[in-house]
Amino acid sequence: MSRNLLASFRSPLASRGEQRSPSPSNLQVQLKCNCGKLCVAVTITSESITGHCHCKQCRRFHVAAFASFCVVPTVDLAEQTSIIRRPGACATAGRVDRLWCACCFSVLGMEVTESGRRCELYLALGTVEDASIPDSLALKWRECFTEWTLQECATWPAALPTMHRARRVTPQRAQMPVSGGCACNGCRFTANVFPGELQHCYCKLCRKLSGAAFQTWTPCLAEGFAWTNQESLILVRTTPHGQRHMCRICSSTLTIVYDSQPDTIWPAAGCFDDETVPLDVSTQLYRVIHICCIWMQSWYTLPDDKLPRLKYAG
Ligand SMILES: [Zn+2]
Ligand SMILES: [Zn+2]
Ligand SMILES: [Zn+2]
Repeated sequence: MSRNLLASFRSPLASRGEQRSPSPSNLQVQLKCNCGKLCVAVTITSESITGHCHCKQCRRFHVAAFASFCVVPTVDLAEQTSIIRRPGACATAGRVDRLWCACCFSVLGMEVTESGRRCELYLALGTVEDASIPDSLALKWRECFTEWTLQECATWPAALPTMHRARRVTPQRAQMPVSGGCACNGCRFTANVFPGELQHCYCKLCRKLSGAAFQTWTPCLAEGFAWTNQESLILVRTTPHGQRHMCRICSSTLTIVYDSQPDTIWPAAGCFDDETVPLDVSTQLYRVIHICCIWMQSWYTLPDDKLPRLKYAG
């Protein structure tokens, strides 16, 4: 079985032939967190709009290059006992409540309140069950994404693709100092990351813990990584072979630590402080691979960057 997808692979929808069926209206999709405690049907109306929010707060809360939303009328979440709501802000939506699962920290989206009444839900599309999204809806979403607050976009997603992927991280390789932290600043770190190793992951865990289309990880030697604030830091076993550092206050996922790589820690580029990432990333940062593409959501289209597309992890 090949672990690679064709270099031309850009979307699971493309491999299914992109059958266009009648434009969907009032469909229900399923919002389901990683632990399954939170599961709710959400109605997508013909007026529902989709967008990628690049604002700083969304990037930091979702720990991703951008957040992907579908805006729907508020859903009754009263029976969902594992929901946490925390006030926040989004440059696109204004004052919002950010929502996540108290048990597994999956990100669910944000709610807008007007005159004391909840009115709109910005559904975090990374947490929507793939199987509940008909191809026709995925196709519609894919063609209609608006880019919101692009003026605040991160620089690192524009890093150049490179085929020269280093197989091992060693102290001799070039390193780049960055700092970063969670959305509430209860967890802060400094790291000397390997700038030639940005890896995009589309697995369900990365998607649901971020609510985004993908997360981006870059390795760092453990000796080059330090927590400068760990007031709300927790280390959670998220798979049989790895753990993630998370913030217990704001739900941000900050790193992956693999059991098989005790000397290495993988911070998420989505939590880097913008001011510590070079403005001109073209000579200093490189993107090397798309992994776990088999779990990529059908509404997302990969950039035509010619990078290797792995079905599974490394
Ligand atoms: Zn959960
Ligand atoms: Zn935003
Ligand atoms: Zn936090």
